[in-house]
This record gives sequence, structure tokens and C-alpha cells, in this order.
Amino acid sequence: MSAILHSISENADEQELTDGFHLVIDALKLNGVETIYGVPGIPITDFGRMAQAAGIRVISFRHEQNAGNAAAIAGYLTKKPGICLTVSAPGFLNGLTALANATTNCFPMILISGSSEREIVDLQQGDYEEMDQLAIAKPLCKAAFRVLHAADIGIAVARAIRAAVSGRPGGVYLDLPAKLFSQTMDAKAGEKSLVKVIDAAPAQIPAPSAVKRALDVLKSAKRPLIIFGKGAAYAQADDEIRALVEKSGIPFLQMSMAKGLLPDTHPQSAGAARSTVLKDSDVVMLVGARLNWLLSHGKGKTWGDAPKKFIQIDIEPKEMDSNVEIVAPLVGDIGSCVSALLEGIDSKWPAPPADWISTVNAKRDENIAKMAPRLLKNSSPMDFHGALGALRTVIKERPDAILVNEGANTLDLARGIIDMYQPRKRLDVGTWGVMGIGMGFAVAAAIETGKPVLAVEGDSAFGFSGMEVETICRYNLPVCIVIFNNNGIYRGTDVNPLGGDVATTVFVANARYDKMMEAFGGVGVNVTTPDELKRAVDTAMDSGRPTLINAVIDPAAGTESGRIGNLNPQSVVRKK
Ligand code: ADP
Ligand code: MG
Repeated sequence: MSAILHSISENADEQELTDGFHLVIDALKLNGVETIYGVPGIPITDFGRMAQAAGIRVISFRHEQNAGNAAAIAGYLTKKPGICLTVSAPGFLNGLTALANATTNCFPMILISGSSEREIVDLQQGDYEEMDQLAIAKPLCKAAFRVLHAADIGIAVARAIRAAVSGRPGGVYLDLPAKLFSQTMDAKAGEKSLVKVIDAAPAQIPAPSAVKRALDVLKSAKRPLIIFGKGAAYAQADDEIRALVEKSGIPFLQMSMAKGLLPDTHPQSAGAARSTVLKDSDVVMLVGARLNWLLSHGKGKTWGDAPKKFIQIDIEPKEMDSNVEIVAPLVGDIGSCVSALLEGIDSKWPAPPADWISTVNAKRDENIAKMAPRLLKNSSPMDFHGALGALRTVIKERPDAILVNEGANTLDLARGIIDMYQPRKRLDVGTWGVMGIGMGFAVAAAIETGKPVLAVEGDSAFGFSGMEVETICRYNLPVCIVIFNNNGIYRGTDVNPLGGDVATTVFVANARYDKMMEAFGGVGVNVTTPDELKRAVDTAMDSGRPTLINAVIDPAAGTESGRIGNLNPQSVVRKK
């Protein structure tokens, strides 16, 4: 163990001591933590400095929510918990949004926050940044722990790691009161108290009877469909998943962040025939995807009248029957479940009926052909399709780049238009459809993968994390941000009927977001046509320099709330 020997004794012959600072750092290092995302301040400023001095990469952000989002997506990309470090009360609360979002999305993450003095907080005597952080975090994450004794740090870190990555992954909160950091103990005993977590996310093998049941249902299908969610991408069982698809011959859909698990251009991809396959399929196998709002809860118009049987692969047993009956639940980790299924899918496996495959393919080809001319439009100002057509070519030419995407129209249209070719390359707003993930995800994606990042952002979505362009410049990250600037939220054309203030969804017209990047030494570009956009992105990605491209989009382009306008409640009174 390296830095553990921190003698604060005056007499060199006396017992050697360590303290809370060193024990936390050593516990993280022992468990392979290489990067911490955070914002410094009381009481964790020195902790950040010491972690950096001990060889951990410490990335400082401008706001804790962005640091938290970075940690969360680092967890998703690596299957190791991403670590976010914040100060007490307000910093903790800022990080908490990201922790809750990570838990909802099943991303493993640990939020470590400093906190104020327990004795004062618990008697509510008004300490600096007084808050019972543990109690507040508990309902918003998988597990929450507080450490009061330096000797417990090793166990606490081990529990936090296990809780984050085992079973269904999620967020964990670790509360470290200020006093803990300078608490001392015997260095040798301290070293012994650390725990290296063995097999943090053990394989969960499905029961053979459940595997057989799933295979029987799948084999009986006339119109089968497989849906992959981001759990399947997270599992990193890419080869097994490809074999399952290709050996079974079944058409597949990929949920937003699962896009690229198999290339969207794969001959069995039914992405462009989504409505048809959801409506007309008779057996649907869900792999790491939940039947939540994003899949219309497995019922209603989207799913049509054809009777359906659902097979579901998930590590979380409670997920089964959450919205509709699951006739063949397969509980286990996706790698083990898919491998087990593959044993039953041999050369005698019946190919899906040819009329189903030809129906799906015909619909897909028709929709792709319908879309094609709109993507080639080189107009100025740009519409979404023209601009996204250019970015679609960028990703086709650079399939290993990571695409971060948020916004309303910018998100919904990009999801459909930009094909992905490799697993875990598309990072977006996830289960909550939350805005503000952009720059945090972009920073962590660049740091964790070393790949170039293209962040395609609505002008409104960007605003939630935009100050982190300074962070991107400070660490000189290969991030190219494209702002789809249509002067407002959804659109920039709303009018306040009473005059006076501009409408609630309208921003400053013709803003130049590119100047923000220039302020910190990055490259700013303003573009008005898809050709200019393509050239600017190519230059940015070739150079690897932090770049922000302000893409001028027709303010009248775009629809309210993108594709989910139906979720807006309507006033009955106003309609009279
Ligand atoms: P999407 O939004 O892409 O449909 P969801 O986040 O709704 O995906 O679903 C992901 C599912 O994947 C969750 O139910 C989660 O429990 C599951 N999951 C995550 N990791 C694994 C894994 N390694 N093995 C099995 N299931 C997993
Ligand atoms: Mg906008």
C-alpha cells in the first residue's frame, strides 16, 4: 500500500498513524478507482488535492449535477461505479439529482459527500451547511451509508461498491462527516481494515427450467420480435447478443441507448419499422429493457390488437409483470441468460416465418426511402432533418465516436436519423428523458473511453450544463458540441399575447453560443447550412480540439415537446 504512511507523530519512534483522508483514498485505489468527478469545497477540498497527489485523476466541474452525471455515465460505460465528490448540503443536493437519475437508469455510481458535524446537525443547532444528508439521500438511491469511524472506511467503501454494481446497478450515497477525514488510527490497523471487493457483480445464472420455458415460447412464435434496452448494452455481452440475433433470425428493435449494440443498419434491424413490429408481433422478448412509458407500458394502441406473449430477461426479479403479464420470465444477468438461450438455438432452430420477415423488411425499406430525400436538403436556415442528415454521415464515417444527445426535437429526430454502429456509443436522456446530462456525459465519455465525442444539443438542453465548456477546455477534451439553435424551447416563435415579456419558451434571438467556447480558448464556429455543419464537425473531430458549433436552425422548425407532446396536459377551460 502506497500513501498510507502519514506520520503525524512528533517522535519518529512512536506509532505510525493514518487518517480518514488517506484511508478513503487508499480504499478507492485498492478497488481500482482511477477517476473522481466532483466540485471542491468545504469539507472535501483537501481530500480532492490529496487524491490527485495520490494518482487518482480528479476532474473538477463547475456544478455538482454535471459532475454527478459524469460519474453516472462513467459507471454505465465501464461497469464500475463512477465516483462523484461533493461538498455538504447544497453541493450534495446538486449531486443528488444525478444520483437519483443514475438509480432510475440503473447506472452504478457512488455519490460521496462531505457533511457537517453530526452532534450539531442532529440537535439542529444550526451548523454550517446543516443537513441530514443521509436521510434525504435514502429514498433516492439503492443504498446509503454514513461512516463515523476511520476504522469503518474500508468496509463502507466495499459495501458502497457492491451495492452499486451488483444485481440491478444503481446509485449509492456515502456520507462522510468532516470530522472523519482527520480522525487518526494506527497505520497498520488502518491498512488491514481496507477491503478489496472480490467479484463485485457476481454472475446470476438463470434457472434451466426458465430457460426452457423461454425457448419454448420463442419457438412457438409466428411473428417474433426482440427488444434490446440499455441494460443489454450495459451488460457488455455484445458477442453473445449478436449470436442470439443472427442464429435465431428474429427481427430486433434497439431502445435509444441500446442503438449500436448491433449496427442500426443490420439486415435484421426493424428500427425503421418500429410501429409495425410493436403492433403486429405475437411474441416479444425484452432484453434489458423495461416496459415503462418509453414502450407505452406494453399495452394500448402502440401494441395493437394482436395477442402478445412477453418473454423478459432482466437481473431484477421484481421487474417481471410490472406492466403486463410476462409468460416467460428469465431472471439473471444478460450475459448468462443469453448464453443459456444460445445453447438451445442450434441448427434445428426454425427460422421465423418468411411472410413476417418480408412484411417487416418491406415496411422498413419503405420508411427509409421516404426519409432519405429530407436528409439531403441543403437549406439555410437549416431544418432538423437537413442538419441531422449531415451528422448522420459524420457518425457513419466515424463509428467509434461517442454521440451524446439531448433536447426535444433535437433528441427525438436524432434518435431516428443517426444510425449507430457500435455498442455504448449513444448516450442520452435515458429513462426520465431528463435535460442537463449533456456536458457531464460528454466529459466522462471522453475521459473514460479516449474516443472523440460529438454532443448534439438543443439550445435549451445545452443551457442546463453549458458552463462546463470551461471544463472541456480546461482538460482539453476531444469534444465537439453542436447546438441546434432555433432560438428557444421547442421553437423560438411563440408570442406573449399580452405583449411585454417575450413568451415563456423564447430565448434571445440569434444567440451565438460559439462565442462561449472561444471565451475559454476553444474553437467556436457559426454555421448556417448542412454542408458547413459537416465540414465544421469534421475539422473539430480531426483536430480533437474542444469545439462548439452554433448551428442556425429555422426558429419555426420543431414541434412542442418533440415526440412526447401528448404528455402535456391540456386546459379544458382555455379550449371553450
Ligand atoms: P431502456 O430504457 O433502454 O429500455 P431500461 O433502463 O428501461 O432500458 O431497462 C434496463 C433494464 O436492464 C433494467 O430493468 C435493469 O434491471 C436491467 N439490467 C441492467 N443490467 C443488467 C444485466 N447486467 N443483466 C440483466 N439485466 C440488467
Ligand atoms: Mg430550441
